[in-house]
Amino acid sequence: MTTATSPHAFWLAGRAATGEETRDITSPWDGRTVATISVPTPDQTERAVAAAAAVAGEFAATPAHVRAAALDHLAARIGERAEEIAQLITDENGKPLKWARAEVGRCRSVFRWAADEARRFNGAEGQRLDSDPGGAGRLALTRRIPYGPVLGIAPFNFPLNLCAHKVAPALAVGAPIILKPAPATPLSALLLGGLLAETDLPEGSWSVLPVPNEAMPSLVGDERLPVVSFTGSAPVGYSILDSVPRKRVTLELGGNGAAVVLADWSSDADLDRAAQRLAAFSNYQAGQSCISVQRVIVDDSVHDRLLPRLIAAVEAQVTGDPSDPATDVGPLVSEEAAERVESWVKEAIESGATLLTGGSRDGAQYAPTVLTDVSPDTRLAREEVFGPVMTVTRVFGEEQAFAAVNDSRYGLQAGVFTHDLATAFRAQRALEVGGVIIGDVPSYRADQMPYGGVKQSGVGREGVRYAMADYTYERVMVLTGL
Ligand code: NAD
Repeated sequence: MTTATSPHAFWLAGRAATGEETRDITSPWDGRTVATISVPTPDQTERAVAAAAAVAGEFAATPAHVRAAALDHLAARIGERAEEIAQLITDENGKPLKWARAEVGRCRSVFRWAADEARRFNGAEGQRLDSDPGGAGRLALTRRIPYGPVLGIAPFNFPLNLCAHKVAPALAVGAPIILKPAPATPLSALLLGGLLAETDLPEGSWSVLPVPNEAMPSLVGDERLPVVSFTGSAPVGYSILDSVPRKRVTLELGGNGAAVVLADWSSDADLDRAAQRLAAFSNYQAGQSCISVQRVIVDDSVHDRLLPRLIAAVEAQVTGDPSDPATDVGPLVSEEAAERVESWVKEAIESGATLLTGGSRDGAQYAPTVLTDVSPDTRLAREEVFGPVMTVTRVFGEEQAFAAVNDSRYGLQAGVFTHDLATAFRAQRALEVGGVIIGDVPSYRADQMPYGGVKQSGVGREGVRYAMADYTYERVMVLTGL
């Protein structure tokens, strides 16, 4: 057991270490330095990879109860330190405290589920082969084997839980993990390393390395890391896939999430609820979620009654200091990110869009914004805005609505506000996405369900047990003469 140490250290093969260079982590809200972290040298990164490769066989053979106990420990400790961790997420990411608390709660559940799944996962499956003459007297036994060490690469927007999505399934199957947090938000991951250091997992089975981006191509290409589990933007994700086509690569990428409000979602209570949910989930994490509501597609029959409610609900979002528990919408991750959102909105307005509310910027803070009549050629319509901005489009009927959802190169999740079960099944068949959320926004995600995209939103699925399947392969043993 190693003891946790200064947050400035990183974690090399389960032990706290410091490199030769440091980097300041600043708050997007007020620019203050939250912490200074140490950056691993190439030699230290090499040592972490070598340790992971060396321990892979031993770790795969660790009894499930040992791995499950470590995962239970992480869940318990995250629960005990929840408030402190939420504050850290708010400090490094600018995420409002209430959303940071929600992230910590989810992370705790991820480790709990992973502990449960670890207890169930390792059983061998048996199969008689004698339905074929050549199989008489033979029995096949199949078990899942980890490919080997996993390189987990995380983005900035859920700095704790998206790390947990890599760490928990890897530990659950007995695969060593090298976790690489986002440059802007490594502190939650380093804190998670401190909790991992309290467990008895074998030395080398985990490292948390804030490796600089320039050093990532050689780490990604390292043959001792057969699995790369990446969450982040499409350009970086596809560059990884192109660089290591023979590896097991899972990509959780971006989207321009659509929510459809259909004709039957029409009572005052329905429309109030839709407006509340759409406003909240276009703006939570300042729109910096891969399943934020970006495109709202509304049937003509309810459009004119929904729109004023939507604008009112967006204007009611409380903006400002993320450490105030009342705040709904804090700053974006950086001033540059907010400037990019501002330029996309300006471009849409210059191309004929009507600004209904918002559209202003103050440093890294961008006001919750609603636009309509957005030209389909603009970046706001076609790309992932990753900011607190929604576009509203009027459509006529379900077919047009579903076609509008599918008019995107992304396909992560879609929300469909309908009460009709037959419509729900048609939506599940018609929509080109990894998940269809009926009666709610596309932003719902639970970590026990399969989660991931089609089209340019990614490859593979997360959700604890789905990632466990992705990190392992089936190895069959055939017994003869039985
Ligand atoms: P990003 O692609 O800029 O960075 C993601 C990670 O990749 C970071 O850790 C970064 O340091 C690393 N990286 C950068 N260059 C690399 C390289 N050449 N090789 C390997 N790794 C490299 O993404 P971001 O801005 O941190 O996050 C926002 C993006 O993440 C959005 O597009 C969002 O939709 C996406 N995202 C997707 C999901 C999902 O589950 N589908 C969840 C959250 C965020």
